[in-house]
Amino acid sequence: MTTFYKWGSGTNPDAPRVDHAHDEFLITTDGERIIDAASGALVVNLGHSVPGVSELMADQSEAVAYVSTSYFRNDPAERLADRLTELTPDPLSAAFFVGSGSEANETAIKLARAYHLAQGNQRKQTVICRHGSYHGATLGALSLSGKPTRTAPFVPLLKRGPRIPAAYPYRWTYEGTPEEQAIAAARELDAAITREGPETVAAFIAEPVSGSTLGAAHPHPTYYREIRRICDRHDVCFIADEVMTGFGRTGEFFAVDHADVAPDILTVGKGISGGYAPIAAAIVTERIAETFEADSEHAFAHGHTFSANPLSTAVADHVVAQYDEDVLADVRDRGATLRSALAPLTDHPHVGEIRGLGLMYGIELVADVETQRPFDPDRRVSKRIFETCLAEGVYVYPGSGSVDGRAGDHLLLGPPFITSPESIQEIAETVIGAIESVT
Ligand code: PLP
Repeated sequence: MTTFYKWGSGTNPDAPRVDHAHDEFLITTDGERIIDAASGALVVNLGHSVPGVSELMADQSEAVAYVSTSYFRNDPAERLADRLTELTPDPLSAAFFVGSGSEANETAIKLARAYHLAQGNQRKQTVICRHGSYHGATLGALSLSGKPTRTAPFVPLLKRGPRIPAAYPYRWTYEGTPEEQAIAAARELDAAITREGPETVAAFIAEPVSGSTLGAAHPHPTYYREIRRICDRHDVCFIADEVMTGFGRTGEFFAVDHADVAPDILTVGKGISGGYAPIAAAIVTERIAETFEADSEHAFAHGHTFSANPLSTAVADHVVAQYDEDVLADVRDRGATLRSALAPLTDHPHVGEIRGLGLMYGIELVADVETQRPFDPDRRVSKRIFETCLAEGVYVYPGSGSVDGRAGDHLLLGPPFITSPESIQEIAETVIGAIESVT
């Protein structure tokens, strides 16, 4: 039997076979060293050598590796929940642990709908989403995603609410200052809710900094302040999907912290365990949590076999304990180093924009910088740059972006927070060389 890793790439016989990894490096079975400039898929935030994980895994699996959370409690899950309360924006107070980011978003959607139902608002079921987004591979989360390379083969998807424009200032046509444009873009949500009828809208879901689809595109912080006001006005839950951006990636613990805004539901994954265990969570405010408390008449009828698994939560608790102000300072510092190392691309005729926050950088590649015309998708520009970089020993994340149906090429860079200045320089030089040779 062969292993089918991933749609379209699983059977690639030439894909490097990773034997082991340390710090920011992957070492193949051929002994080749590859810099992991995308932390996997922006997962391995703390690098491949976090001390203490293997001992902790051995101890926890010796003690207890699995219990059904339908009938039993466990300490690691509760310790992790307490630790998350310290890091997440204030009104967030309860976590529902699941196995992946997709499950976290499925959970968030169901939580929002169950919450409104419990308030007697039977009709509040619609979830509004954005173009150029990615919320997961399961059919519910995928239906709310605006990523044609992933969604197109499965149309018709599940019924969803309207999609509003992406938070993609590079291609916005709103007038005014960045702040005024951000407000205009956010008000697309207000218009969509009004068109749908506020009594039918349960939630709005968005990635505060766009990840795999739009390569670190992000609006002026005013955008999310306005989104918060609009959601409050219409009693709509704001779900911030921080599966990729959570845990320091953008230079704050969470990307919503840049706007000083708290969502009603925050979904996290990837960096919560730094890649050491499959775990994710939907984290809700006290107001939502109270609805489903044990003595309430409302139950949240939901759960997965591996929800709040003791082994995964123990590992995540150990990893989350490492995220502190010093780590954030490192992210900002190394992010600035990466930004200056990429400076030679600023006036490149095929680089439309270099954007990012913390250690999450996107490079938008276009056929023509004046008109912002994207490359013809058949040229596979970002895929070829990815291949060229990999052959040179640097792994970057190739974008398969698309917004409102238009193709777009970008690269996403998100190295581990411990990446050395020398490796950062090597990443930038390799990327610059690859862009030169492919475009
Ligand atoms: N949400 C965002 C923003 C993501 O980037 C991803 C994965 O890349 C997901 C959700 C889905 O997470 P998972 O692949 O763990 O299901």
